[in-house]
Amino acid sequence: MLKNAKLNMPINNHRIGYRPTWAQINLANLEHNFSRIKKLISARTKILVTVKADAYGHGLILISRRLELCGVDFLGVASIDEGIKLREAGIKVPILILGLILKSDILPLFKYNLTTSVCDEELSRALNRKASLLRKKLNVHIKVDTGMGRIGISHYDAYRLVKKICSFKHLNIEGIFTHFAFADLDKKFTINQIDLFGKLLQKLANQGIKIPLVHAANSMGVLDYKGSHFNMIRPGLVIYGLYPKESLAINLKPVLSLKTKAIFVKRVPAGFGISYGHDYITKKPATIVTLPIGYGDGYPRNLSNKAPVLIRGRRFKVCGRICMDQIMVDVGNTSVRVGDEVVLIGKQGRNRITVEELASLSNTIPYEIVCGLGSRIPRITNFKEDD
Ligand SMILES: *Cc1c(COP(=O)(O)O)cnc(C)c1O
Repeated sequence: MLKNAKLNMPINNHRIGYRPTWAQINLANLEHNFSRIKKLISARTKILVTVKADAYGHGLILISRRLELCGVDFLGVASIDEGIKLREAGIKVPILILGLILKSDILPLFKYNLTTSVCDEELSRALNRKASLLRKKLNVHIKVDTGMGRIGISHYDAYRLVKKICSFKHLNIEGIFTHFAFADLDKKFTINQIDLFGKLLQKLANQGIKIPLVHAANSMGVLDYKGSHFNMIRPGLVIYGLYPKESLAINLKPVLSLKTKAIFVKRVPAGFGISYGHDYITKKPATIVTLPIGYGDGYPRNLSNKAPVLIRGRRFKVCGRICMDQIMVDVGNTSVRVGDEVVLIGKQGRNRITVEELASLSNTIPYEIVCGLGSRIPRITNFKEDD
């Protein structure tokens, strides 16, 4: 998609470290997903990609730099702190804080050119006062609650708040947005949310109030609700190549793989207990491989005795309890050597382990698996598109 020579320069190609455990971040796959999603929207529709929580565990800076090169219009973060990290790394694209900030923390918005969400008069007034003192104008996006029940001005009261903020001379309402509570589960509820939001926009338009950026669609919205695109979409998960639910008709490529290497191999007899509490006891003589990763890295402990791993192109299972820094795998009679590469998420040979599969085994959602991967795991980039 992008041919510029500069783009092929590794962004974060520092060494892995002395522990051979790393997350491989495929930036070509990221571009593939970004362009796939762009194909689903009209040419005039802008795209904000959410990079909160360290870009869903993929690495805030390396992901954001690549998205900036791809032409992303906005980056979405959860806090001022995440916004500052982006600015300090030299990211220039507009940044929207999707969460709220305290009145005491307004100054960094000016210093780092960050846009915040607002959903009440009190914060809006404080922003206006600060902007006035600094003789500046500040962009804000108004968050409307149409059924999520989280932050946001209730759609009943939103009209009044917008009018109020219009009277604040130092604020510019650049955007207005809402968020879906059920996009993956309940079509009727979601369509009602879109309707409520649309009615508000209509009421504002009737009063001659036209807000430049209108957005609602998370990943599910982008894929399943064309009527939710307005003039900006706000996907996260699909950009990382992950699916918000099963059987969606779009070809995404997972961006993250999680890899390690066998650090110890031993042969044990039948009846041998493995790990804390001996939850696993070998039925036959077996080869037990130890891997240097654990729940201290965000590899979920409730995957004990469940998680699949790929060694020598074959699927095996974690055996015994997952420890803080180590896990064990029973490979039966397969010959494995110290230093053999092991895949915990991703492809090896013809086999693959997906984030979605681990999430399902761990009784959670794909989001939590990738966000949970800790900072102890280095993120290493590569650029060759695969699937
Ligand atoms: C995280 C987030 C998104 C993106 O959601 P996905 O399901 O990852 O696409 C969109 N909007 C808001 C307000 C968010 O917090």
